[in-house]
Amino acid sequence: MKEFELIEYIAQKFSRQKNAGGLILPIGDDCSAVRPPKGFLQVTTADSLVEGNHFSLEYFSKKDIGRKAVRVNISDLASMGAIGPYYAWLTFAIPGDMKEAAVKRIIDGIRQDCLKYPVVLAGGNITSAREFSIHVTMSGWVKKTNLLTRSGAKPGDVIFVTGNIGGPTMAYKQFKQGKKPEDFLLKCWALPHPKPEIGIFLADKKIATSCIDISDGIFQDLQHVTLKSGVGAVIQWDRIPVLPKLKKRNPTPDMIGFGEDYELLFTVPPSRLKLLAPIAGDITEIGRIVKKGFSVMDDLGKRIDAANVGYHHFI
Ligand code: ADP
Ligand code: MG
Repeated sequence: MKEFELIEYIAQKFSRQKNAGGLILPIGDDCSAVRPPKGFLQVTTADSLVEGNHFSLEYFSKKDIGRKAVRVNISDLASMGAIGPYYAWLTFAIPGDMKEAAVKRIIDGIRQDCLKYPVVLAGGNITSAREFSIHVTMSGWVKKTNLLTRSGAKPGDVIFVTGNIGGPTMAYKQFKQGKKPEDFLLKCWALPHPKPEIGIFLADKKIATSCIDISDGIFQDLQHVTLKSGVGAVIQWDRIPVLPKLKKRNPTPDMIGFGEDYELLFTVPPSRLKLLAPIAGDITEIGRIVKKGFSVMDDLGKRIDAANVGYHHFI
């Protein structure tokens, strides 16, 4: 399939999209043009999925690869409290020997989750490359007063996370050992469940002082918050909501802290804790913001060494 045929194929597939009213110039020109909703800031993110790091062509379904490319970007927008309509720009790097059917199934997955969230596909690019990869840029909208960042955590704030942690780390480790990850772990790694509704709730009600999505590991991402906020943190090791089947194996930090959880981690001052009632079932308290330092303690008061656990890019 040639580049222009593939673009035409994508343009057709996405020709009748929900919420596309703000897309003044769709796929087909040199640039897209989007009308911003009045009074909102545009928040924009870009995430790449690379074979062997973020997915496996052997073990992931093609659809899941496409769906994950959408979801990792939704997760970034969730952490900022961004509302839709979300717009996406999609870049494929495709090797010459890649099967057309495989690319089409990946596009099916992208379309499925563009309908789910929903996201309007506004444009993109196609290039050839030795290895297959997908790159998505995505934007959403936030009122200036609602912007949720990494930098507002204060000593005394309570630290929460959404969902379960650790499945993707163990899947990735098994994969890197040359094995097919166990099914329950592979499922977590292949298809994250980002939490835009929680990010929007926290931003809208001005509950959280800081928020981040966990892509590089719970310990490392919390330290992104503490560093940006100029504070420290104490984590209760036994409170971390590790995926139940994994928890039975008594995991070490290394077995849960490598990232790709795509859950939200956020901080809330004690005075606003009661506002969390509507989402109480979706979140877990894991620790406190303190003045400085970073420590992880177990229930017996023993220090757990976790500060350096996390995904390190390039090196
Ligand atoms: P240019 O060469 O001027 O960059 P292209 O020929 O690459 O333009 O793209 C033509 C149109 O198709 C543009 O509107 C672009 O946004 C869109 N497009 C290209 N690749 C993709 C893709 N993977 N997904 C969605 N739209 C795409
Ligand atoms: Mg051009």
